[in-house]
Amino acid sequence: MENVLLVRYGEIHLKGLNRPYFERKLVERIKFALRETGARIIYAQGRIYAWNIPENVKSSAIERLQRVFGIHSISPAVSVAKDWETICSTAKELLKDALSDGKRHTFKVFARRADKKFPMTSMEICCELGGYLLNEFDNISVDVHDPELKICVEVRENALLYTEEFMGAGGMPTGTAGRGTLLISGGIDSPVAGYMLAKRGLELSAVHFYSYPYTSERARDKVIELARILSTHSGEIKLHLVPFTDIQLAIYEKCPPKETTIIMRRLMMRIAERLAKADGSLALITGEALGQVASQTLQSLCVTDDAVSMPVFRPLIGFDKEEITAIAKRIGTFETSIMPYEDCCTVFVPQHPVTKPEVEDIRKSETAVDFTEMIEQAIKDTEVIELGRA
Ligand code: ATP
Ligand code: MG
Repeated sequence: MENVLLVRYGEIHLKGLNRPYFERKLVERIKFALRETGARIIYAQGRIYAWNIPENVKSSAIERLQRVFGIHSISPAVSVAKDWETICSTAKELLKDALSDGKRHTFKVFARRADKKFPMTSMEICCELGGYLLNEFDNISVDVHDPELKICVEVRENALLYTEEFMGAGGMPTGTAGRGTLLISGGIDSPVAGYMLAKRGLELSAVHFYSYPYTSERARDKVIELARILSTHSGEIKLHLVPFTDIQLAIYEKCPPKETTIIMRRLMMRIAERLAKADGSLALITGEALGQVASQTLQSLCVTDDAVSMPVFRPLIGFDKEEITAIAKRIGTFETSIMPYEDCCTVFVPQHPVTKPEVEDIRKSETAVDFTEMIEQAIKDTEVIELGRA
């Protein structure tokens, strides 16, 4: 008898000829997630198996797999020889464990015969094994519609038996959709935005703008920590820390007060686009939601987009703050996001920002400053930190 984690994947099945590529990427991600467990990862017949995981790290291995995008679900299973007596006695042991609370439970047997040479059909396995278990225990009954306990048997090279299924994160394996660059602030929204697109298969780079000494060292550390937490889901993140003080001061000196925020956002986008190109990213990602603040009205978003030619992905565009907060809590970024350190956006915020900016007006106001040199300098002084590598 051997223990194994059985990994199911979902949407990859739809990918036709590209399927082997997606599967290979998923296997790579799984190997990385389980690198410290000594697991042997085998891909066979549309499933991935992680063998040799010591019992004492099994639950942490499952937790790690639950963060790997592309996985539909995970079941800890036992693998035994596919003879009927062994299957019955193994099922009995599993059910005994599941019944350890001493209460009465309903159950159902699920069977799948991938090995068509096995002498019983799936239906026969279900009936025979169900009957056998009913005989062995007196505190169980069958419920085929809504059973409390499931005894699952898969007959493949061996017989695999399990009772539990842990849901995975879904999505597509990270990296299968290319690379995107996340504009990350210290707030609640942007880490969630990054999570959502990593889940769709994007590998992430990230860019953060800070305005030292108006923003503190601790605000910077907070963003590094957020990117680190995000990298536990997305894998490796290359985080760029861009000094933004000179540009912000120039904007505040030379541009109309009510337009400073939108102009600042255009400059952030421009610099992010430059860094994205250098990184092989094909899109920018922000945590903006329609109407959340003045710089996130439809007009403002249009003016922001006008500053760059890359597509800008805003996965939270139709989300309420509560919905975003719920995801932030689930992925573990919320507690860090609400730590009270200032962001460069909030430090320089004007009292009455425009909510319906016109592209032409903003472009004109921008000509008050020649940003070329400052942009070059900011890029030159950008510090890069790699997260989630180890
Ligand atoms: P968040 O909660 O992510 O901070 P927010 O609702 O506070 O978002 P804004 O501060 O207006 O919104 O920022 C909108 C988006 O612009 C953020 O989600 C993020 O993608 C980007 N952004 C804001 N500030 C910065 C920054 N200092 N560095 C990099 N990107 C930023
Ligand atoms: Mg913010």
